[in-house]
Amino acid sequence: MSLSEYLSKSLNTIKRANWYRQEKTITGLSGAVIELEGEKLVNFASNDYLALASDARLMEASIEAIYKYGTGSTGSRLLSGHRLLHEDLESSIALWKNTEKALIFSSGYTANIGTISALMSKKDLILGDEYNHSSLKNGAKLSQSQVIEYNHNNCLDLIHKLEQNREHYRHCLIITDSVFSMDGDLCPLPELRQIANKYDCWLLIDEAHATGVMGKTGAGCLEHFGVKNDNIIQIGTLSKAIGSLGGYVAGSAVLIDFLRNRCPTWIYTTALSPADTAAALKGIEIIKHDSERRSNLWENMTFLKQVFISLNLSFFPTESAILCLKSKNAESALKMSLKLRENGFFVPAIRPPTVSTSRLRFSVMATHQPIHFTTLKNSIAMA
Ligand SMILES: *Cc1c(COP(=O)(O)O)cnc(C)c1O
Repeated sequence: MSLSEYLSKSLNTIKRANWYRQEKTITGLSGAVIELEGEKLVNFASNDYLALASDARLMEASIEAIYKYGTGSTGSRLLSGHRLLHEDLESSIALWKNTEKALIFSSGYTANIGTISALMSKKDLILGDEYNHSSLKNGAKLSQSQVIEYNHNNCLDLIHKLEQNREHYRHCLIITDSVFSMDGDLCPLPELRQIANKYDCWLLIDEAHATGVMGKTGAGCLEHFGVKNDNIIQIGTLSKAIGSLGGYVAGSAVLIDFLRNRCPTWIYTTALSPADTAAALKGIEIIKHDSERRSNLWENMTFLKQVFISLNLSFFPTESAILCLKSKNAESALKMSLKLRENGFFVPAIRPPTVSTSRLRFSVMATHQPIHFTTLKNSIAMA
């Protein structure tokens, strides 16, 4: 079979299953209301929970950094790419996350695959939640460790699998999303920490959707749960609530020093651009001091839940700013998404292979207005 034949055949299979996906163009600034392919829509599809990606203060910080350092960082961190700005951002993350050190990456994805594969190898065992993000799963694969998935948020299943397997391996790492990105629920962090300690495992959490959102100062799920940072490896992104681009790892000084010398996705790639670095630094500064944005976010989340409860619609359990409405199948999720779009709402249908069961995924922003929720309620009621 020729390459093109193979590719067309695969794409046709994807299309027949209603799994086919395409980019949609947003023009102008992002925010709670956007212009998508020429239509003005209320945006329930953004990871920009606190609306910082279009905040003038972040833009100004970026512009200032560009004039000071240029557009590119010109090299990897260990060669010509390192600037004081990178260090400032890493200190700010470490202070916020209450860890000794932090290290910034080009993206959350490369932070995850690089860190997991640098830490673990053939003689080791990785236990991961079945609903983990693609970057955690691929990091585990790349490490060449034995990888075993446990049932979603099921500590008994995790313990059972540790009892059966732990002793056959050298090191063991438990990896989990802290906020599950396609569901909105949280990992049982206090229990996972206890289990990790009891079975001599390390623990790595992906705080992509928790950073800036969960906890009193937005520091994430450790802060939310009041869990002591017992060497938990905290990974996250600068591209969601923080409003910029990039990823980070926060942890002990020795962990960060190790990664700086052993993590290929940090060593062999160009340092984060001055503009992205400066925007992230400003974003974190704002998040730390502006708790009103987070309280608006939670208020809006309550509004959204009330909409669904009053309409008797069933949604997945959530404790974050992500809420998913259950759909029968990929086709009905798509239909509902299109219907909502006709009524002025951008709500993506999340389908396999991203998730096992199709759903409509709403992510809430601090800048959604009460009118957005009342009009949403009316248009779902009429749909
Ligand atoms: C978005 C996301 C990532 C990837 O972060 P990027 O900075 O966008 O590469 C990793 N893990 C989870 C859980 C995510 O939701």
